[in-house]
Amino acid sequence: MVLRVGLVADEKFNEAAKKIKERNILPAVCGRVCPQESQCEEKCIVGHKDSPVAIGRLERFVADFERKMELVEVPIIKKDTGMKIAVVGSGPAGLTLAADMRMHGYGVTVYEALHETGGVLTYGIPEFRLPKGIVQFEIDYLKQIGVRFELNHVIGNILTVDELLEHFNAVFIGVGAGLPKFMNIPGESLGNVYSSNEYLTRMNLMKAYKFPEYDTPKPKGNKVVVIGGGNVAMDCARTAIRTGSTEVTIVYRRSRHELPARGEEVHHAEEEGIKFKLLTSPTGYLGTDHNTVKGLECIQMELGAPDESGRRRPVPIEDSSFIVECDLAIVAIGTGPNPIIFQSTPDMELNKWGYIKADEETLETTKEFVYAGGDIVTGSATVIEAMGAGRIAANAIHEKLMKAKKKVKNKAAAATAC
Ligand code: FAD
Repeated sequence: MVLRVGLVADEKFNEAAKKIKERNILPAVCGRVCPQESQCEEKCIVGHKDSPVAIGRLERFVADFERKMELVEVPIIKKDTGMKIAVVGSGPAGLTLAADMRMHGYGVTVYEALHETGGVLTYGIPEFRLPKGIVQFEIDYLKQIGVRFELNHVIGNILTVDELLEHFNAVFIGVGAGLPKFMNIPGESLGNVYSSNEYLTRMNLMKAYKFPEYDTPKPKGNKVVVIGGGNVAMDCARTAIRTGSTEVTIVYRRSRHELPARGEEVHHAEEEGIKFKLLTSPTGYLGTDHNTVKGLECIQMELGAPDESGRRRPVPIEDSSFIVECDLAIVAIGTGPNPIIFQSTPDMELNKWGYIKADEETLETTKEFVYAGGDIVTGSATVIEAMGAGRIAANAIHEKLMKAKKKVKNKAAAATAC
């Protein structure tokens, strides 16, 4: 990350904000949600002797300073290339690519399936970790530089990638990996069993917690179980406790040591009174006479030898079943790719994990002039990785289109000379 810490030390906060924006269009977002301890702060040499410089906090501070002091300036955009780019998906990958292509002088239109922009930043990460006003402010900046947004456009249904290619010089696919995974255990279709996506989307995007002011009812539950041990599970649990649930339990099949969530998130969850049932694996749900969930049947686990991920494999302990009472269950065990785009673009190849296959250097897919990046290529990852993919693809698209333009120009010049 290009944050000149010296500029902050010299109290040149506005200059520091401008500096970071040269490389990162969402600093107020990254300063809040990036796992800095395993990214920039891990590389900080001060950390060899002491705590590393709090780069994430500084990033957040300078971005907030620039916004609150109304110092945001619209940068100068390069000369119009006369070419147009379509972006599918308005998450961090699509937004970064859109900003970069616009700065290079392209007309950019972002097609978003939902009625709001921002991807997981808007519908997934809860308000208490990432205020939506901040996300929208950073997206407004893109609108100010001339990026167009078409909302409620599910590409694959309304328009196909091939149809986009008829009107645009290149297409970037940044549709994320938003298809929820379930455990496929008995009782999963009972009422009040939600995927983390649906639960968080209702709470964040549809503002269910403000019902009846907003018209989506809040998923009701006093005793909530959240299945999974990642950041998404922590977000669900912390949302439930904030919206009136009295007892929230995270059920995770390995031990605390293997919890994939950031240490900071686990710490906050514990501070907020969320319980952890570790080394516990669900085997089925129990339902009421009205077919809503009333309990989660579980089995106790112990750790065996490491599996292919390097983590010790959880092994069930015989005759150790027990029930965790609940009236709301949230499944947060990961997501996969939504097939809508692939089904309507059969000549675009997928990799062995079912995500879009893209060239490592350029992120061009097996379909010429179609690029892809972010979670739809890597599987669920991080905001900064998705943004990095947007930048790589933007540079590659610009280079390819400029080369193509030069070729056409040279051909035309040669034809005139004849
Ligand atoms: P997304 O952010 O998923 O955006 C994709 C967009 O494409 C969405 O808006 C979607 O509606 C749209 N779309 C999908 N299909 C279509 C279509 N057919 N046509 C048009 N539009 C379409 N990462 C961190 O670094 N830190 C965190 O703290 C963190 N917390 C997280 C919490 C939750 C609850 C979740 C789910 C993820 C979290 N992540 C976090 C991961 C991070 O948010 C993602 O890695 C990142 O958002 C991926 O960006 P993306 O642009 O690839 O896709």
